[in-house]
Amino acid sequence: MDERKLLQLAREVLPLAYAPYSEYRVGAALLTSDGQVFRGVNVENSSLGLTICAERAALAAAVAAGCRSFSLLAVVSEDELGPWPCGACRQVLSEFCDENLKVIISGKKGEIRRLSMKDLFPYPFIFDKEKLSQEK
Ligand SMILES: [Zn+2]
Repeated sequence: MDERKLLQLAREVLPLAYAPYSEYRVGAALLTSDGQVFRGVNVENSSLGLTICAERAALAAAVAAGCRSFSLLAVVSEDELGPWPCGACRQVLSEFCDENLKVIISGKKGEIRRLSMKDLFPYPFIFDKEKLSQEK
């Protein structure tokens, strides 16, 4: 699957975003290593901190279907350049995606910003249970 097709799949779900508070709709499409695509949208809540971003919604859908290996993430919005994934999404993505995951971001201008997970989130928090037990 090429980048433009995955961005198109992300754009298709934009109208399904639930964003009555910010009116900032985001769509995401996550390509698995075996070629499946899972999509997500942002789902806001009146308790704003409980909002779920499109990237995490797509990831959760993939994990629920038994997929844990990914190669490309497309994120789109209706503004000019598209959204950078937030810090929470970067951390959550790092749980399943190594530094080689490719991330593409686009807005209504159509430009594509490309980066790797390594660029997006170079220092993830990693819970190292073994290290903790050695320190006791
Ligand atoms: Zn986010």
